[in-house]
Amino acid sequence: MTATIIDGKAFAARIRGEVAEHVARLKEAHSITPGLAVVLVGEDPASQVYVRNKHAQTLEAGMESFEHRLPADTPEADLLDLVARLNADPAVHGILVQLPLPGHVDAEKVINAIDPAKDVDGFHISNVGLLGTGQKAMVPCTPLGCLMMLRDHLGSLSGLEAVVIGRSNIVGKPMAQLLLGDSCTVTVAHSRTRDLPGVVRRADIVVAAVGRPEMVEGDWIKPGATVIDVGINRVDAPEKGEGKTRLVGDCDFESCAAVAGAITPVPGGVGPMTIACLLANTLTACCRANGLPEPEGLTA
Ligand code: NAD
Repeated sequence: MTATIIDGKAFAARIRGEVAEHVARLKEAHSITPGLAVVLVGEDPASQVYVRNKHAQTLEAGMESFEHRLPADTPEADLLDLVARLNADPAVHGILVQLPLPGHVDAEKVINAIDPAKDVDGFHISNVGLLGTGQKAMVPCTPLGCLMMLRDHLGSLSGLEAVVIGRSNIVGKPMAQLLLGDSCTVTVAHSRTRDLPGVVRRADIVVAAVGRPEMVEGDWIKPGATVIDVGINRVDAPEKGEGKTRLVGDCDFESCAAVAGAITPVPGGVGPMTIACLLANTLTACCRANGLPEPEGLTA
């Protein structure tokens, strides 16, 4: 079997297009422009790239983008003041504090200071609780993107066996909650799981969010399963020249694609969906704040 490649780049472009259409309608019918505030503390190079991309795509979708770049030694109290100002600003519907934060800042304290209704990353403890109890929440962007791709590819997920590898608060745990919400039978595997290949072999849906290059092998995959590879790992690529690198996922693409029914590539799979879902969450937050109907198909 050769798997269908799930094109996250094209899917994300479709989602961004839908968001932009909704934004245009909001502006025309209600004179409302959704606004996203992104807070970046310090000079982390990867974070700089993410924030730049978020800014550009927010503007492309017709939204307002408010960037707040603060020096690495910004005191925690100043950051909390900024969050309080953004919470109170009616032009800001979504607030994202880019992680990781410098060591002297208590990241949990800062995230939990964000108004849960504006918490477009879905990391606030209230949103975690709402998602866990099946209530209307702001849902973390990466697992939301995975869910959208699964629904788009498989239709109903009801009754399917899903194995999520990884139990992080950002990906693994919310992913498991979302799959439960869609009536999958969910197993969360992690670094202490015994016989991981045996556990993965049961799965109709595999979501790998580990951060270990090409760990999941083709003979772990049940024939026909759908494989969502969240991992982003940079590895040496001597074949491209000295000192060159390339990105790979947590799944060994060649061997998994030979057995799976469908698989997301890295790059070009889950990655582009994350910002698309951030824009979708900002639009959703804006609609909720204004008592307007939420966009269909863009939430969990
Ligand atoms: P994390 O380090 O917080 O969590 C990794 C999880 O993997 C842990 O729960 C751990 O128990 C599990 N694990 C580690 N070694 C294992 C092993 N040998 N067997 C089974 N489980 C093992 O990572 P994270 O933040 O959840 O991110 C995971 C991966 O997803 C990373 O590669 C990250 O770069 C990527 N990621 C991508 C996106 C995106 O595409 N937009 C977003 C977030 C994370």
